[in-house]
Amino acid sequence: AKKKAVSSIEFYSKELIDASRKRIDMENSLRSAVENQEFELFLQPMLDLASGKIIKAEALIRWHHPNGYLVPPDEFIPLAEQTGLIIPIGKWVVTEACAILKRLAEKGEEIKLSINLSPRQVNDRQLFEFIKESVTKAQVNPHHLELELTEGVLIDNYDKVYYLLDEVRKLGMSVSIDDFGTGYSSLSYLQKLPIDRLKIDRSFINEINENSQDSDGAIILAVIAMAHSLKLEVIAEGVETVLQRDFLKLNNCNIAQGYLFSRPVPYDEFCDLLEGQKNK
Ligand code: C2E
Ligand code: CA
Ligand code: CA
Ligand code: CA
Repeated sequence: AKKKAVSSIEFYSKELIDASRKRIDMENSLRSAVENQEFELFLQPMLDLASGKIIKAEALIRWHHPNGYLVPPDEFIPLAEQTGLIIPIGKWVVTEACAILKRLAEKGEEIKLSINLSPRQVNDRQLFEFIKESVTKAQVNPHHLELELTEGVLIDNYDKVYYLLDEVRKLGMSVSIDDFGTGYSSLSYLQKLPIDRLKIDRSFINEINENSQDSDGAIILAVIAMAHSLKLEVIAEGVETVLQRDFLKLNNCNIAQGYLFSRPVPYDEFCDLLEGQKNK
């Protein structure tokens, strides 16, 4: 029994060493990814439910790893947050989003683009300065840029965030609360914070299916009613079925996004989607 204990400790420490080595490798390759700009913004269309037209897109980052693998954000954003690499990555996202908006505007497309900001970014005052500068430099219409922040981020930094968002909105940009309904129970901030839209989390949209009871849609209905009475628009994310779309449309949800319409796609494919809807 004694022998076994020793070997399990050895095994455990070997695992730890492997894990930390893997993390260091990952951190190093993420660092060079930043230097070599190995990222791409994929665009996922957002449709106005009333007209069925694409009116916006969410920019979702992808990492073209030198090993040929396309790394999804969930696999490197957390590490980027821990290491601070999210700061240069976030700047790249802002610059690239502005470049995309500029290209779209030059094609005569009046499309809005939203970008995601994670907690550490929101704590970085310089980022907001950088956003302002980038919008001006690229000569994009600030009304076309939207920021997505999660509830937790807003409440943890309430005072700081209030002023930053207020400034951002005075410049004409808009603000959405992402993953709404999964974070905090306090709703009082909704009334006070300078925001424009709520994005109902995918988990609530998921509840709407052939087997669902009336009560499964209750939270969605409550969020839509509350948002509208606060003069906020509602976006539903993760819409995968016609049933979900019809439910949302019938209940006056404003905007929908999800695999039913399109997965996140590279810029050129997004432009094809825009062209496609003109010929309808
Ligand atoms: P999120 O902001 O909640 O983005 C929505 C995620 O849901 C995206 O995953 C999108 O591809 C996925 N999705 C969209 N429609 C559907 C659907 O119908 N069904 C299902 N099952 N999924 C759907 P993705 O692109 O892997 O991004 C994951 C998360 O990574 C994002 O969640 C966001 O928190 C973060 N992220 C992405 N890009 C950035 C970025 O540029 N900066 C920061 N800080 N975070 C980012
Ligand atoms: Ca988002
Ligand atoms: Ca979301
Ligand atoms: Ca999410």
